[in-house]
Formats: sequence, C-alpha cells, structure tokens
Amino acid sequence: MQREPLIDGHGRRISDLRISVTDRCNFRCQYCMPAEGLKWLERDGILRFEEIERLAALLAQMGIRTVRLTGGEPLVRKDFPALAALLTRIEKLDEVSVTTNGFLLERDAQALVQAGIARFNVSVDSLQRDRFFAQTRRDALPRVLRGLAHLATFPEAHPIKVNAVAIRGFTEHELLPFARFAREHPYEVRFIEYMPLDGDRSWDMTQVLTGAEIFDAINKHFPLEPAERAPHATARTHRFADGIGKIGLINPVSEPFCGDCDRIRLTADGRLRTCLFSLNETDLRTPLRTGATDDDLEQLIRDAIWRKELKHRVNEPGFIQPQRTMSAIGG
Ligand code: SAM
Ligand code: SF4
Repeated sequence: MQREPLIDGHGRRISDLRISVTDRCNFRCQYCMPAEGLKWLERDGILRFEEIERLAALLAQMGIRTVRLTGGEPLVRKDFPALAALLTRIEKLDEVSVTTNGFLLERDAQALVQAGIARFNVSVDSLQRDRFFAQTRRDALPRVLRGLAHLATFPEAHPIKVNAVAIRGFTEHELLPFARFAREHPYEVRFIEYMPLDGDRSWDMTQVLTGAEIFDAINKHFPLEPAERAPHATARTHRFADGIGKIGLINPVSEPFCGDCDRIRLTADGRLRTCLFSLNETDLRTPLRTGATDDDLEQLIRDAIWRKELKHRVNEPGFIQPQRTMSAIGG
C-alpha cells in the first residue's frame, strides 16, 4: 500500500528514519553516558521486534526510504540480526544500516551482512589504546579494531565509515593518526562535532572542535579537496588530493544542516522524535499496544511531523538541553 509522502510544516520531505533498538550499552563514552550508566528501560517498555517492524513498514508506505539502526549499542539487543532481517525485507526501503561501537562485530558482522545490512558506521574515538580507554571507559580498542577488520572482509559491507566525536583537548591528537588510518584502510573516517547530548550535562561550546579546525589541521599535512555531497548528507566529504582515501566532517554545531533535514527518530520505548534536540516527543507505543489501526498511527505520525522543528537552537541563548541524552535518543 502507498500513502501520501511525509512532509513537515516547513515543506521538508521526510525520508530517513533512525531507530534505537535499545537504550543499553556496553560502553560508557564520556560524551554520551555517565560512568554508572543510566536508569535502563524495563524490558517490557521496549518495542518488540514485530512492533518495530510494523512502524517501519507503515513509515515506508509514507516515503521513508532509509533506516539506520542504532541505540544505545544495537548489537547488545538479543537476536539483533533477526530484527535486521525483518527490516531489510520491507519492500519499499532502499537501505537499512547500522551504527555500532564495534565491540561485538567479530561475533555479529556475518549475521548482519547476511541479514541484508548494507552500510555500517563504526564509532572509534582514538587509535591509541589508553586514550580510547579513557574516552569510552572500556579497554576495548584492540577488540573494536579486530571487529572492524572482520567486517571489512565482507565486500557487501563497503564503504565502511568510522566515526569519531571531535572534542577539543582530546581529538586534536587523533587527527593525523586518523588521516593516516583513512589512507591506509578502506574506511572513510568522519569527525562529528561534540553536541550537548551528554549524560553528564557538562558540554559547553568551548569543547567543540569544529570541522573547519579539523580540516585545516589535516589539510596542512595531507592536502584535501572537496568530494561531492549527496542530498541530505550530514557529512561534508573531502578526498585526499593524491586520490588515496577520504574523510568526512559532520558539523551540526558550527554549520547546522537543518535546512534540508529529512530525518525522524524512533526511541527504543516507541517515542517519535522529530529532532535530536526535540523537547517534545510523540508516544506511539501506547496506541500500538491498545489496538490503534495503521490509519490511526498514520495520523499521529503526520501530526508530529508537521510540527518538526525548523532548526536546532544549540547556538542560541536560552538553548535547553533535552532530558534524553544521546544513548536514550538513538544517535
Ligand atoms: N553505540 C553505538 C555507537 O556508539 O556507535 C550507536 C549509538 S551512539 C549514541 C551513535 C553515535 O552518536 C556515535 O557515533 C557516538 O559517537 C555519537 N555520539 C554520542 N554522544 C554524542 C555527543 N554528545 N555528540 C556527538 N556525537 C555523539
Ligand atoms: Fe554507548 Fe554509543 Fe553512547 Fe558510547 S556513544 S556510550 S558506545 S551509545
């Protein structure tokens, strides 16, 4: 069945859905979660596989074309590859991808590729074991790099993206090692500006290492040239001028890309969010569990999307950090 496309109140067509499949995680990254973790959702509060599948299929009828599975750490969700397989079977979806910290990739990469996952983003914040430990609070770099290398053995998984959050005072030391890494391996390394979605609520603007600063630091040693930007892409991609490798810069703070935002998010407990920084969300779990028809759900979704925020206000006085932090939203 085909339904009318999803358009927000500012005329933007919505075609990308991020689904958080769990709020739990086996890491405790400094910029995301407090050391002691968060109060996890009750098992029963988390959408079941068939509920996620139903919503994704309905949204696909309304023009969602790409789905990214995230969390928390998606691979800690029991039988995650089976969920992936349910979603890749939805006819109208062009692509289902996964964002992971890589810790369980040695175990799951094959099952996920077999389930039809076409794209992987693997988060790696440092290429030095002690610094990786300090940032993620887990001594796991060798294991993550083994997972990444294992993933790379599957031709279907390419191109593979490696994402690092860029934090002043930390990431400067990682830029050249990551540039070399991107030149020596078949990975596009992308730097994401640090956003005010951390569990400790200690973000401030001075900690944001901007994409422009990263560009300059890398370009001095390894000249870069711009690569084409796909529509709605969050990253500005640059090729190394000698043709060997690529890096990406995701600059939501210094150069917001809200103007052509086509994304919505579904949290693990079934709330629809129309912006990472939304202060309001729409509960889809209750109607799902109390007999709502697809038409009822469609109406709720359309109303929420109509109110999608024009832009985030991180750079404005009076900005309010949402209650939910990155791992509870699904980044
Ligand atoms: N656990 C998986 C992972 O780390 O890849 C998926 C979920 S994680 C919340 C998704 C992405 O959000 C990761 O690349 C992570 O580095 C990024 N992230 C988390 N907190 C962030 C923050 N405060 N600012 C910018 N990016 C952040
Ligand atoms: Fe976990 Fe990902 Fe958050 Fe790190 S960034 S704590 S791996 S959810």
